Amino acid sequence: MEQVLFRHNRPDRSVTFEEYCAEGGFDALKKALTAMTPDEVQQTVIDSGLRGRGGAGFPTGKKWSFVPRNLPGPRWLICNGDEMEPGTYKDRVLLEKNPFSLIEGVTLASYALGVRHAFIFLRRDYETAAANLQAGIDAAKKAGLLGERILGTEFSCDIDLHLSAGRYICGEETALINALEGKRPNPRQKPPFPAVKGLWGGPTVVNNVETLANVPAIIANGAAWFKGLARNPEGAGTKLFCVSGSVVNPVCIELPIGTPLREIIDQACGGLKPGKKFKACIPGGASTQFLSEAHLDVPMDFDPVVKVGSRLGSGAIIVFDEGHCLVEATLNLIKFFARESCGWCTPCREGLQFVKEILERIERGGGEERDLDLLRDHTRFLSYAFCAFAPGAMSPLDGLLANFEDEVREHITRKRCPLKG
Ligand code: NAD
Repeated sequence: MEQVLFRHNRPDRSVTFEEYCAEGGFDALKKALTAMTPDEVQQTVIDSGLRGRGGAGFPTGKKWSFVPRNLPGPRWLICNGDEMEPGTYKDRVLLEKNPFSLIEGVTLASYALGVRHAFIFLRRDYETAAANLQAGIDAAKKAGLLGERILGTEFSCDIDLHLSAGRYICGEETALINALEGKRPNPRQKPPFPAVKGLWGGPTVVNNVETLANVPAIIANGAAWFKGLARNPEGAGTKLFCVSGSVVNPVCIELPIGTPLREIIDQACGGLKPGKKFKACIPGGASTQFLSEAHLDVPMDFDPVVKVGSRLGSGAIIVFDEGHCLVEATLNLIKFFARESCGWCTPCREGLQFVKEILERIERGGGEERDLDLLRDHTRFLSYAFCAFAPGAMSPLDGLLANFEDEVREHITRKRCPLKG
């Protein structure tokens, strides 16, 4: 299985700068700076079909193309490493093993976008990743691969590592921009999208860690090669899947985009724990929908997962077995979201609290038939919230009602959780 992001990984430690360079590291940057124009780099990324790996799956090259070309003043690149989606730990693993693909990817993207100063906005708890990144940035600078006149060319670029203050909402791109400006991290109205008006009012591209770490291999090997890595015809590249929950071997693994969900659970993770039977899974972090056994053959790529009623999200698969109560699991996630809501808009601030209370009531055995309608109404009302946070928070509830309504109903009719004596 071809490894793109984990190609340089060592089993027990981070790859060194010397090892990364000896294995072709920074060759893509040399190639781009000596033989490609910024537009050619951007076009290669567009042609590669790379889509954002943070969760939304927006086409990366297309996002870059929204940056106005001839606007005076600085433009910015921010790498979003504020990984806080429950179940998601892929960027942490990636950076603990190898910070250099990201550093090279940020520099290449900065070259394509005309960015002079880029930021990596990292979750504060990721101490090993932060140390790796800072040491990597320093080593690249010392070797003339970052800073003034990179590799003797006209292109200069710096990267600053910024540690997040530590709330989930800081990972929402416009809240992140406010945080970087030193303001309270409330989300901003979109549009204007950051690509047009972002950091300090300038055009700003915000890309996820895994997204940018793919760029060196795309530039080194070409768009067709990247597309050819996927298992499904419409897909492109590989994906980091981090699996947790009721499996024998929870892993963070790199597999081709389009690998069937069943194969990831059965082959990469050794199947369900002994004596356990699959009940449900969340395919891509807490803001995606519960899927049932009927969906296990879905190719894990953005559009196919949408077709079965969820989203690929961050690729964090959480597996539940027959012994898990999905009302309780949903409640658990809603508690997280209710706590992390920034409180800026009413639907999110009040709505999540209300959904939490209804689910608590149902789980305790005090639910009524009308609670099902109330829950359903809230999955609609919360889509009117100011940013993507509340609709994302409603995703597991959406999946619960779509695929496991009988389980909720059983709580209501039996006046208790059927899995608790
Ligand atoms: P989104 O669909 O609103 O936007 C995706 C990206 O495309 C953004 O960068 C946005 O600026 C850009 N974009 C979209 N339309 C555009 C246009 N017309 N012009 C210019 N740019 C445009 O999604 P989002 O709110 O950025 O992200 C939501 C996703 O984040 C969810 O799918 C969730 O799974 C994921 N998420 C991940 C984590 C994590 O830890 N990895 C945490 C929270 C949420």
